[in-house]
Formats: sequence, structure tokens, C-alpha cells
Amino acid sequence: MAQFSSTFLDELIARSDLAELISRHVDLKQSGANLVGLCPFHNEKSPSFSVSVDKQMYYCFGCGKGGNAFRFLMEHDGYPFPEAVEFLAQKIGMPIPDSKPVNPREAARKKHGLALLDKVTGIFSRCLHAEENKKALNYFAQRKLSPAIIQKYQLGYAPAGYGFMKRCFAEDHNTLKSLEAIGVLIKNERGYADRFRERVIFPIRDKQGRVVGFGGRILDDGEPKYLNSPETEFYHKSHLLYGYSEHRESVRKHKMLVVVEGYMDVLAMASYDLDYAVAPLGTAITESQLRMILRLHDAPIFCFDGDNAGRKAAWRSIERMLPIIKSEYSPQFLYLPDGEDPDTLLQKEGQKAFENRLKNDARPMLETWIQGLKNIAGDGVEGRARMAKKADQMLSQVSDDYLRQAWQGEIEKVSEVKLSMQKQAQDLPKSRQYIARKPAQYLTVNPMKHDHFMAGLLQKPMRFQSLPEDAFDFFIDTHPIHPIYTRAFSLVGDNKSTELDIAAQLMREFPDNQHIARWVNLPTVEDDEFQLLLMDMHITYLNDLLGRSDGLAVKIQMNEELKTLRTQQKQLKKYLSDKESL
Ligand SMILES: [Zn+2]
Repeated sequence: MAQFSSTFLDELIARSDLAELISRHVDLKQSGANLVGLCPFHNEKSPSFSVSVDKQMYYCFGCGKGGNAFRFLMEHDGYPFPEAVEFLAQKIGMPIPDSKPVNPREAARKKHGLALLDKVTGIFSRCLHAEENKKALNYFAQRKLSPAIIQKYQLGYAPAGYGFMKRCFAEDHNTLKSLEAIGVLIKNERGYADRFRERVIFPIRDKQGRVVGFGGRILDDGEPKYLNSPETEFYHKSHLLYGYSEHRESVRKHKMLVVVEGYMDVLAMASYDLDYAVAPLGTAITESQLRMILRLHDAPIFCFDGDNAGRKAAWRSIERMLPIIKSEYSPQFLYLPDGEDPDTLLQKEGQKAFENRLKNDARPMLETWIQGLKNIAGDGVEGRARMAKKADQMLSQVSDDYLRQAWQGEIEKVSEVKLSMQKQAQDLPKSRQYIARKPAQYLTVNPMKHDHFMAGLLQKPMRFQSLPEDAFDFFIDTHPIHPIYTRAFSLVGDNKSTELDIAAQLMREFPDNQHIARWVNLPTVEDDEFQLLLMDMHITYLNDLLGRSDGLAVKIQMNEELKTLRTQQKQLKKYLSDKESL
């Protein structure tokens, strides 16, 4: 990962406009100190997504997603961190200072590789239009791909023979080695040979839209029908999707995402103006690809051939999806008629009919799963038992508690068997583990109180300055809030300026912590409320300390402190209720 200095990152966040970044996707309305809207990460009818303009952080009280501008670009738009930084810097015209990569030579080599891939794409593309390669262009014409589609997706052709690439480039050792590294040359005992020969070429792009590899399809009936780039440092087939970078924007616009089996399906759909399909690269879909898909759209439609192979592929997708599925997602499955794919169907029945299939025939994941279970388990009483057994095993992989329970109920209805729920204590959510472990006295503290206390501090970091000395120990060191809390203390201590945005800095240091974004997006904690919270926290702390202390003198002193605090608390409460009734 490229190294960015923390001052640069802080300034970048401070100068970016998170609300503007988010309002490209979400309608935001003012509500109290924050902006609210419908969450772009999950389906909802009433807004629980909040953006704090003051702290430049968003948080969804429905699904718990939250963070700063970097996080939004990563989670919503699928950028890796360095690209999210570059994107923001470019947007506000901030030069990236000495973003010197760990190893400049490495970076130069990588840049050279990408430039070479780009060059090769151009060469394949020009080759497609050469007079002697008419049959390749004819192939695309037969498949009804227009010149516009051919141009947009930079389709190409690799001619027959073994010396084509060598003729296009200088034949020096370094060039040949580089061409081998990007996967277009193969080295054998006779030297270097072209990997792609007599094939139409589909350039494959990464998330940033850079060509990183190629898919090649044979023109006649030869084998293998499809040949792809080998794994290189640029091309990782299990982390890429064909059509992803080309269609990211239109997926958002149409609120549609269709997952198909091959390049030609993606292109066929695009040539009928359905430019929202992606496909894995010739292998069964991977978990990483499923994550990319679900991040891009929460209700993708997975399209499969209705034959046996298609049903198997659908089943594999369901299995892979179980560990990452959440109740916020609603993937659907569509079986096309036996032996058909989107390409052949579109040619037969046209765009409208195909769109209707997507709209009307796609079935929820659970329904498709239950159908699959029935097929595997077979009929009769034993069949139902086998179904329950298999479902139980599969359900144990679902990490979303609510979804698992909902699905369990449905499967019990169908199988008429009570599932045993193999999901047991070993993977309880962390918060519950924590409660189970901590000493009893901490259970008396309402976690909501912690939340509002932290919200009060981060919303107005000046409050750190007026905390009593004891406050540093309010959270025991196994408490989940402890590391953030103590770090905030040292940030305040290190910095004389009251301008320091502690929340932003914590967010940068704890990028995976969702609490920080939630705290700043909670309703404003007013001064009086904060005073009460602080007293409450202090009293709880002293009470606990008292229980664990031995010395009599210490105990007497603590009792005194407690008494004073309780009196002050009572007075403040009375004052507040008097004020309210005025
Ligand atoms: Zn949400």
C-alpha cells in the first residue's frame, strides 16, 4: 500500500465534502445537526442513514455501516484505499505529496506493465479491423455486436501464428520478458510464443478500469473454447469481474445488476442497452467476486442456464454466498430455458421479453435454495429429513443472526423437521462474548450510557479538558471502547489546540471501528445531558472501585466522594426538571 502521511490524510478529509460525495447517490435532508437519507447500503423505507457535516462522517443506524469519505469510497464504490485517496485528492485538486511507494523500482515496473497491457489492447483492436482478419469481425457481426459495442469494450483479435507479438515489439530480452510477465507471451524451449492465437479478444479490466488481462475465444469449434490470461501480478481471475468497471455507473443508475456466465452474455445484453451485467472469468464464482457484486448492488440477479450444469452453478453460488449474506441483501436467481443463455435468448426474443424475464421470473435466494435442497434430498419422509440435515449444516455458515433465524423458520415449515441449529456459542458476536467475560459489576452500566458519553465527548472534544482525573480509568482495559477512549485522551494531551478534530483522527487510526461514526452521528448531546452522564459514569466507577478496595481510609475517602457526587447529581437533576417545567 502506498504510504500517505497522516497530516496529508487529515487535511484531505477536512477539505473534502462528504455530503456532496454521498448526495451523488443519496437524497439528503437536514435533520437536527445532521443530514439524513435512505441508506445506500441496505434497502429501507424510512431514512436511518445520517451524515455529520461537522465531523465529515456517515453512519447508518439500520445496518451499522459508517465511516469517513475514504470508507465511503471503499465500501460503496469499491475503491481500494490508495485509489480512494487519489480520487478525493484529484476531486479537490490537492496534489499528493511525495506519495512515494515503498519501492520506486517496483512501482515503475508495474506502471510499465500496465502501459504494455494497454498497448497490447490497442494492437489486438487494430488487428480486428485488418482486411485479412475479416472472419473475426464477421464473428462479432454474427453475434449482433455493433461497431459501437466493439469500440466501447475494445474487442480485438489475435491472429494465427506464433510470432505476432514479437513482430509488434522490439525483440530485445527485456521487452520479451515484460510481455511474458503480463501474460501474452509463453516461454517454451524454442523461445517465446504467442499465448493468444486465432482468437477474438476480450480485454479484462480491473476496478479502476485498467486492462489487466485478456479473454480469448476461438472462432471455430476448436478447444479450448475460451482461453484467458494466466495469473499475473495484474490479473487475478478470482478477484475480477468482466464488465465491472464498464458498468459500475449504470448499475447505480438503473438500480439493476445481472450476473451472467460469460463475456458474450455481458456484451449481448449491453448491445440491447442492458448495460448492467457482469460475469466471472470462466470459472465458478468466488467469494471475493460475490462480495464485489453485493457491494455494488444489494439485489443482484444471478442468471443461469436451466440445464443441469446451470443448476449446479447456481447451487455453488448459493453455497459461496452463505457466509457473507446479510439480511440487507436480496439476491435473486433466474433460470433461463434449457440450453439458453442471455445471448441466444436476446437474439430470439428481443430486449422487452428478456427484461420481463428478469423482472418476473427471478426468484429470491431462499426459494432457489429450498428448491435445490429438495432436488438433492429426494422425496418422502427420509427426503425431508435429509433436506433438514443439509439445510442445518448450510445454515450454520450464515453469520447474520436474524437472517439465519428467518431462514431456519422457513425451512422448518417446508421440511416439517425442527432444525437443531448447529450454530453454537463458539461464534457468538464479540459484544456478547465480552459481556459473558466481564465482571458482574460492569453489567449494571447501561451500554447506551457509554454510547452517549462517547458521543458527547467526540461531538465536543473540548469536554475532554474538563473531565475529572478518574475519567481516564472509566473503561476497564478489556472494554471494547477502551483503546479508542485512551487514544483520544493522549491526542488531547499531545495537542494544545482546541481545533483538533479528534473524531477524524480516531477514524483514521481505527478505520474499521464503526462506533466512531455512530457517536458523531447520534443526536447532539447537550451540555446538561453530558454533565449528568459524566456524573453517572463517575459514580459507577467509584462504586466499582469501592467494591474492590481493602483499605479502610481509602474506603472512607471514596464514600465521601460518592456522597458529594450523588448530591451534585441530585441538584442538577432537580435544576433541569425545574427548568423544563418553567
Ligand atoms: Zn444501512
